[in-house]
Amino acid sequence: MRLLITSLAALFLLACEKKTVAEKETTLDTKGTPYAHTANILSFGPRPPGSTGAKQVRGYVTSVLEKSGWVVGAQTVTSETPLGPRTFTNLIARFPTQPKADPWKSPIDGLLCAHLDSKYYPNKRFLGADDAASACGLILTLAQELAERPEQATRLELIFFDGEEALSEDMGPKPNGIFDGIYGSRAYATRWRNTAQKPSFGILLDMVGHRDLSIKVPADSPPQLLAVMKKAATAKGYGDIFGVSEGSIFDDHIPLNQAGIPTIDIIGDFQRFDWWHTPKDNLDLISAESLEITKEVVTAMLDELLP
Ligand SMILES: [Zn+2]
Repeated sequence: MRLLITSLAALFLLACEKKTVAEKETTLDTKGTPYAHTANILSFGPRPPGSTGAKQVRGYVTSVLEKSGWVVGAQTVTSETPLGPRTFTNLIARFPTQPKADPWKSPIDGLLCAHLDSKYYPNKRFLGADDAASACGLILTLAQELAERPEQATRLELIFFDGEEALSEDMGPKPNGIFDGIYGSRAYATRWRNTAQKPSFGILLDMVGHRDLSIKVPADSPPQLLAVMKKAATAKGYGDIFGVSEGSIFDDHIPLNQAGIPTIDIIGDFQRFDWWHTPKDNLDLISAESLEITKEVVTAMLDELLP
């Protein structure tokens, strides 16, 4: 992401959807804490769009979700990028109201999402542990716990976005009308743009497992969701960790907000220190305790938003 707001107008996206994923099955232990899921995601190596790592990680995520009763679909989109046309694949999951019911037909109230891709670098090995494997690992644990609370799970859609990261060095507008970054979330948001029955909230997680956890949500976050986050963080004793950034942040929540779904970006302060978008963003940076803190706060938010 980057700290700026840029118009997303004049973007042409070709989106097609399919409801099945037949990607690599995994032999990893799929029960686990957010930290264990994060480590498992990283074990596949870098996962930029179109890579073998990305495909294998989608297989892992799908396997964990399906084992706890979620139904997983994929949305693919081919977009122009600075490197030529590229195909991006979002994973989308819902929890059926009855064991064999079609979950895609029932209305939902909220979105819980993160980006699964790691930033592409031609010349260095970049894992993106906190950017954003940790957020995806946390959502996997939440999904396993939500399976025990079907009254909440059936009201949610989980999304693992592809292509959040720019394929060139910096996210933003490029020549030929290309906007480099947030490819998957832009394609996903088009699904909701012209529908009357939209989810009432979205929670995006990004960089939520740093060992020195400091959450800084965008200053222009939807006020009602900011209030819910602050209330939840304060109630859990983490009011000092969950703060507000000085400006806007460009991330996957932008197209969701533009599509009329108020979405908060619960994002770590990536401007501190020198780890962001460097090989230092590996498992050493991640703390199991930080992930548990974020999990507690997000769980309390869901309790407030899905009573
Ligand atoms: Zn990044």
